[in-house]
Amino acid sequence: MLRTHTCGELNTNHIGEEVILCGWVQRTRDFGGMTFLDLRDRYGITQLVFNMEWDVHLCEAARKLSREYVIRAKGKVTKRESINPKLPTGEIEIIVDEFEILNESKIPPFTIEDQTDGGEELRMKYRYLDLRRNPLRKNLEQRHALAMETRKYLCEQHFLEIETPYLIKSTPEGARDFVVPSRMNPGQFYALPQSPQTLKQILMVAGYDRYFQIVRCFRDEDLRADRQPEFTQIDCEMAFVDQEDILQVFEGLIIRLFSKVKGIELDSFPRISYDEAMKRFGSDKPDIRFGMEFTEITSRAKGKGFKVFDEAEIIVGINAKKCAQYSRKELDQLTEWVKRPQIGASGLIYIKFSEDGSLRSSIDKFFRQDHLRELSAEFSAKPGDLMLIIAGAKEKTLKALGELRLEMGNRLGLRNPNVYRPLWVIDFPLLEWDEELQRFFAMHHPFTSPKPEDIPLLETNPSLVRANAYDLVINGVEIGGGSIRIHLKELQNRMLRLLGFTQEEAQKQFGFLMDAFEYGAPPHGGIAFGFDRLCAIFGGSDSIRDFIAFPKNNSGRDMMLDSPSEISQQQLNELYLRINLP
Ligand code: ASP
Repeated sequence: MLRTHTCGELNTNHIGEEVILCGWVQRTRDFGGMTFLDLRDRYGITQLVFNMEWDVHLCEAARKLSREYVIRAKGKVTKRESINPKLPTGEIEIIVDEFEILNESKIPPFTIEDQTDGGEELRMKYRYLDLRRNPLRKNLEQRHALAMETRKYLCEQHFLEIETPYLIKSTPEGARDFVVPSRMNPGQFYALPQSPQTLKQILMVAGYDRYFQIVRCFRDEDLRADRQPEFTQIDCEMAFVDQEDILQVFEGLIIRLFSKVKGIELDSFPRISYDEAMKRFGSDKPDIRFGMEFTEITSRAKGKGFKVFDEAEIIVGINAKKCAQYSRKELDQLTEWVKRPQIGASGLIYIKFSEDGSLRSSIDKFFRQDHLRELSAEFSAKPGDLMLIIAGAKEKTLKALGELRLEMGNRLGLRNPNVYRPLWVIDFPLLEWDEELQRFFAMHHPFTSPKPEDIPLLETNPSLVRANAYDLVINGVEIGGGSIRIHLKELQNRMLRLLGFTQEEAQKQFGFLMDAFEYGAPPHGGIAFGFDRLCAIFGGSDSIRDFIAFPKNNSGRDMMLDSPSEISQQQLNELYLRINLP
């Protein structure tokens, strides 16, 4: 090795030792006769000292070193005069007797500090510099720890890690596929997996009754802050289990990860049904770190002559405690906020319960004091509280109020990133109706099993059928989701028919799976966790980018590789492809 120690490990126990360190110049400080240099590597920072009195040439050479030069320095560990309690190496320094420059560096385009001055695009372009920064290094270290602990836990539970192919077959259901042209099969394409779903089910048929894989998945979707075109899942499947077994095993995994990686001991996770989650929180991934649950006042609020209420399918609100002092301006802002197209409410109604006990509202024209008092009682409001109410079509209204609840949670500082409140959301509907396309879609995916007792409704009232599907939600973020699968060919066929597949299409797309079901498919089910999101949650952040070594930007570009990019005519020819730009 070129070095005897790293820059993070020396302390007073090493005083007097001759050591060799390698690393990057974080900064130099020149005090005339003395020069101090902070040398950095992945493990930490160690202070090097040069003194004019000991060696003029060496000291002068050290002064010339600028940021991010790579050097190798030899010297003696000594006790430091002014101790730096913030650094593990803060009690010692190295009196250097020789050093060499291993490589020079240009001045980096942004500072390599915890708080950098570099914008996001610039940092992505120079990702190798960004990755030198502590926050990113810590994120990747924690990601590694999570992956290792996951493997350990699942291995203890007799899961086998099995790789599935990346070049698979395009399927129309779900998101858009990334496709790869096949040179050897002109005109034909592979697809990159959106998940190894069907392959892990085939592994169950093959008898590998506990499978997992920490695996890359690819989805060609429009990007958002928490989405990447390629992302990583902890993908799992088990045979001979029911939903309860799966919830137990994977609740165990999450509890273990929090305990080992964050030192947090979690209680067992509450479970709520999809219907209840929508009703209480207006979301199928509720943030239960705070209350502010919904109060429905539909029947109480109708019939007072206020058209918006009288015509609404649902009237529902939240009680923002201690917010009665909100000014007219703040309320107008909130109203604008809920009316934005992303939220989509038509308006916001408020009732203020003033400290003096009086009630004031934006619907005073229609509601007398005693009516308002009645409504306030529904909200269990106290003097000082502010009730915020939305009315309209059921689903849209619940969702809009759900967003408002989160916004109020943010404003009131109720969403502490250091508090973790996981829960299971269960009993999802099997199907989702698409107004535009006038057809059903599988809410989870087409392989999810209906609850056996709801199977008779499949053809008569499909929207009432519940699925044996579940999501793991932490702090308002969907971290994982899965289901018990269909393992009978006949039922799978019925399901695909319901989703609008003809017999031929079903056979063409999923024939391999249904064929497999004819050779002894065991009952099975599984789950997949979004590993990048899990890492972000563990890091107390809601952006996954800082937890991925080489992420893509909002337009799906890798700024460092400058990809996607054109390919040569020869490559195109070999693939029998012609580019036909609009
Ligand atoms: N394959 C599913 C997904 O990617 C997860 C599962 O059902 O196991 O969402």
